[in-house]
Amino acid sequence: MVLKAFKLRLYPNKTQRTQMHVNFGCVRFVWNQMLNMHIERYKNNKQARFQNAFAMNNMLRAMKLEFPWLKQAESTSLQMANRDLDDAFQRFFNPSLQNGFPKFKSKKNATQSYTSKFVNNNIQVVDNHHIKLPKLGLVYFRGGRILNGKIKAVTVRVNSRNQYEASVLVENENQVFEKTKKVVGIDLGLRNLSITSDGQKEDIFKTSDKLNKKLRIWERKKSRRYENAKKAIAFDKHEKALFPRTELTQFLRYQQARRTVAKIKKQIANRRKDNLHKLTTKLVKQYDVIVVENLSVKNMMKNHHLSASIANAAWGILVSQLKYKCAWYGKQLIIVDPKNTSRICHECKQKNHEIDNLTQNEWLNTREWDCPNCHTHLDRDVNAAKNILARGLETLA
Ligand SMILES: [Zn+2]
Repeated sequence: MVLKAFKLRLYPNKTQRTQMHVNFGCVRFVWNQMLNMHIERYKNNKQARFQNAFAMNNMLRAMKLEFPWLKQAESTSLQMANRDLDDAFQRFFNPSLQNGFPKFKSKKNATQSYTSKFVNNNIQVVDNHHIKLPKLGLVYFRGGRILNGKIKAVTVRVNSRNQYEASVLVENENQVFEKTKKVVGIDLGLRNLSITSDGQKEDIFKTSDKLNKKLRIWERKKSRRYENAKKAIAFDKHEKALFPRTELTQFLRYQQARRTVAKIKKQIANRRKDNLHKLTTKLVKQYDVIVVENLSVKNMMKNHHLSASIANAAWGILVSQLKYKCAWYGKQLIIVDPKNTSRICHECKQKNHEIDNLTQNEWLNTREWDCPNCHTHLDRDVNAAKNILARGLETLA
């Protein structure tokens, strides 16, 4: 059995919105009270035992008597707040995770959420546009790909753009992809996101040329309108205007450009994420064993160029998707040390020392090279992918 989640964009009515915000508030209150309780307990007695979710749920009963308005909240969501806080503490206590101490939640935070547990059919996808949520009743939604399976929980969220969203967690039968008896090594690059040992190159960055152009245009408009607004504010101040404009919020055309830029950026990010999903599903379908580089060891480029930071982020997402998809579909992922994988010739296994004399940039621009030892002509990235595959297969033997 595996857990999967799908997202629905919600369009709650006014009553539902009010109820959601009451719930955000109650969950935040419980979280903050419980967190404060732990801090105080520790201050008073360093040996005090940690109160787990179960103990916190017991305290919740007393808290509801003291603060009766908590009863307005959906009850399982308050218990889920305790569970989340327990989790946050466990991650903090775990030395290998290096997570920080749990933080208080602020009302000012633009993103607010709460999670309800599935009990007695309180959560139900009724049809293609309606979901039944506890305390809210039927909520209208659009978009999203509904997954079949047993519903376990739902998280209701509002973001900084005042958009509402439900993330539904379902339990699914573990689907297994057919075995293909094929293995692959993958090199992660800047020019191409991924290059497989059998020579397939994927470029996910290039696909959104049209959107990139649109983004550049709107970014220019945004900065121009920003400069104009600044000038107008300075002008009004200098001229002692009767009704001086003082805030950027008063410049509607600037605000519009700001929103449009944010929207296009989101579209680009979504498209990248989509492409990544398609790519990782394809890889997991095609191969039984996938070998990738260990990203924490991979020599991250020390330049601040945008493409490098996008690539870094994309590599991380790619590997994490491969991790869980391999687990879902019964395939194997091996992570290897990437050291020297691009400098060793995969044919004769000799390191090319001619490369040592090149600068980092010269080396990055070397797309192909000839092995000084066995004279094989090598594609830089495919060679690296083949070495990664070999390293992974060594660990299997
Ligand atoms: Zn060679």
